[in-house]
Amino acid sequence: MTTPALTSSARAREQGRRALAAAQPAVFWLEDAARPPALPRLAADCTADLVVVGGGFCGLWTALRAVERDPGRQVVLLEAGHCGDQASGRNGGFAAASLTHGFGNGQARWPEELVLLDELGAANLRDIGETVSRHGIDCDWQRVGELTVATRPHEVDELTELSAALGRAGHRAVLLDRDGVRKELDSPSYLAGLLEPDATALVEPAHLAWGLREACLAAGVRIHEGTRVEGLDREGPVVAVRAGGHVVRAPHVALATNAFPSLLRRLRLMTVPVYDYVLMTEPLSAAQKAEIGWERRQGVGDASNCFHYYRLSRDDRILWGGYDAVYHYGSRIEPRLEQSGPTHELIAQHFFETFPQLEGLRFSHRWAGVIDTCTRFAAFFGTAHAGRVAYALGFTGLGVAATRFGADVMLDLLSGEETERTSLRMVRERPLPFPPEPFRAAGVNLTRRAMVSADARGGRRNLWLRALDRAGLGFDS
Ligand SMILES: Cc1cc2nc3c(=O)[nH]c(=O)nc-3n(C[C@H](O)[C@H](O)[C@H](O)COP(=O)(O)OP(=O)(O)OC[C@H]3O[C@@H](n4cnc5c(N)ncnc54)[C@H](O)[C@@H]3O)c2cc1C
Repeated sequence: MTTPALTSSARAREQGRRALAAAQPAVFWLEDAARPPALPRLAADCTADLVVVGGGFCGLWTALRAVERDPGRQVVLLEAGHCGDQASGRNGGFAAASLTHGFGNGQARWPEELVLLDELGAANLRDIGETVSRHGIDCDWQRVGELTVATRPHEVDELTELSAALGRAGHRAVLLDRDGVRKELDSPSYLAGLLEPDATALVEPAHLAWGLREACLAAGVRIHEGTRVEGLDREGPVVAVRAGGHVVRAPHVALATNAFPSLLRRLRLMTVPVYDYVLMTEPLSAAQKAEIGWERRQGVGDASNCFHYYRLSRDDRILWGGYDAVYHYGSRIEPRLEQSGPTHELIAQHFFETFPQLEGLRFSHRWAGVIDTCTRFAAFFGTAHAGRVAYALGFTGLGVAATRFGADVMLDLLSGEETERTSLRMVRERPLPFPPEPFRAAGVNLTRRAMVSADARGGRRNLWLRALDRAGLGFDS
């Protein structure tokens, strides 16, 4: 965000640096006394009705929905590390009703089925809340809604248009002028806001992942952590899932491996792993809270192409993330990439440009996580090995809630039934792949630069972005 001519960028940069000085390079949500001990590795060959690979939200929902839908089903879940340690335990905790990475993306790609997609998304969000309460998962699930803020004049026009389109589609959306938005949350950089009370719930992501893991165990799912799956082999009517010298044989396998290299080679160009960076402040004092307001505690995002997202934690910290989605040449994923001096400093500067009244507030944690960006921004689905292996991939930074829908789609596909979900064009169609290197890195970086420049130039998209728009391609986080 570069607009705030209202505040001094140099001063904000300096404050950001100071505020970061003692921040721990660790994920706030995962550093918690409630973190459960690791479950044993796979130590023998076995059989199951369904093997789920990956223990993030997508894999955990798949395992849980499988036993909810068919209580007798024998399910084994294999997780390379600890369930919830990757994107699912380290995200912003915005559980969005949208299954299409936002209304605008849905409208552009699947206009004829957006009403149904939005109904399914709303039901999905309700069902997550219902599961949380049925299992007593202590994850601070709050239906507080979302506030999108405009910090540049052209974004005011965009929010006005979006508000009208949401209203026509029957969604509750309230357009706020400068005073109205600053009554919700006070920043001198705000020009307008759009309040969508039903769009989003907030959740503590690691607590949700751990709660789902516990619910799976209670329902009889066998979970092996520290168990990286190395390959899949077809053996007649079953698939052999190889991991650490052992094999699990099952007629059905669900792949929920997100941004990590897919076990299906054909999917390797379908997504790129992109790092999204996050800061957490120390808890705000009552006086600091009073400076900014935020009584309704909505999740907040700005309306830019390169957007920030932010929210309060249960103990009144501010989680501040986004803006700088970083791709590393060759689709590298390495723990050391989770700390980036330049990006953490840049977003710290943006924090103090947005909230200059919080001068002196410190960041306690800094981290990053990897998201599975695809060219249509919304998840895609499919099967392999003659329908015995299903996958859901490409949630692109909006998978906290959509992964539960993805889980049901995978189970529908494996069952062979045609359902309301599998009939959707959004489910039947797959996005275009990214090109191989070196074109992949060049294309992603060119697109990122063009998006930053469009934000700064009144939203005007250059030739490159317009060409991608025409082809229905893009890059987002
Ligand atoms: C910093 C950040 C902020 C985000 N903020 C939001 C947000 O506010 N709202 C939102 O909706 N989304 C957000 N997202 C995206 C969201 O977190 C993801 O879309 C979602 O968690 C994806 O869940 P998943 O289960 O597919 O992936 P993951 O949580 O990454 O789980 C995949 C799991 O598969 C395991 N795995 C991979 N390969 C293998 C293998 N071969 N064998 C065994 N296990 C394997 C991995 O170890 C991992 O645990 C954010 C993401 C990040 C990184």
